[in-house]
Amino acid sequence: MLNVDSTPYRLQMPRYEQNYQWLHLLLDCYAVIDLSVAESIAQSKKKPACYKGCSVCCRQKIPLSVIESVGIKFYVDNILTKHKYLQIVKNFDQHNQLCLFNIDNCCIVYPMRPIACRRYIVTSQCCSFDEDPLLSRPGDVLEPSRDYLYQAVKLTLPFYNSQGIPFESNEHIFSFYKKQNVVLSSIYSKILNM
Ligand code: SF4
Ligand code: SF4
Repeated sequence: MLNVDSTPYRLQMPRYEQNYQWLHLLLDCYAVIDLSVAESIAQSKKKPACYKGCSVCCRQKIPLSVIESVGIKFYVDNILTKHKYLQIVKNFDQHNQLCLFNIDNCCIVYPMRPIACRRYIVTSQCCSFDEDPLLSRPGDVLEPSRDYLYQAVKLTLPFYNSQGIPFESNEHIFSFYKKQNVVLSSIYSKILNM
C-alpha cells in the first residue's frame, strides 16, 4: 500500500458527495492519478507539450471503467449548463470523430475526465494529426507511476462491492479493473439518456 498524500489534488464536492455515495471514491482515485502525473512531470527532463486547447488526442479511443463513466454522466446531468448539454447533443448528431465532450477544443467534463485522459501526457512537441506518439516517439510519452495507478484503481473497488475479494497482487487488482473497461464512444447514448 502506497503512503501518498494526494489531498492537494482532491476535488471537493461536499454537497454532491453526500448525495452520491460513490463520488468520494472516484474523486479520491482521480486525486491519486493527478498526483502521479504531477510527479511524473516533475521528474521528467522534458517539458510537456500538452496545453489547453490542444486536443488531437481527443480523437483516440478512450477506455474507462464503469465508475468513471458514471462520473461523467453525473457531471453532464448535474454540473453542465443546458447550453453545454445541447452542444454535446449537437456533437453526437454530427458523428464527429472527436470526443463528444470536446467543445471548442476544450474538455467540458475536465474534472471528471477518465484516467486514460488524465495520464496521457506527451512531451517535446505536440502530437500531429493522426499521430500516435506511443508508436512514433514512445520516449516522449510520460509514464506516470503504475504503483499509483494500482492504488487509485483500488480506491474504486468498493463501488463494485468487491472489498471482500482477496486480491493477491497489484496486477490482480488491475486486471479486475481492465476487465470491466469499455470505450467511451460506445456509451455516449447512455450518458446522454438517448
Ligand atoms: S497528448 Fe498530444 S494532442 Fe493531447 S494535449 Fe498532449 S500534445 Fe496535445
Ligand atoms: S473526456 Fe475530455 S480529455 Fe478525454 S477525450 Fe473526451 S474531451 Fe478529450
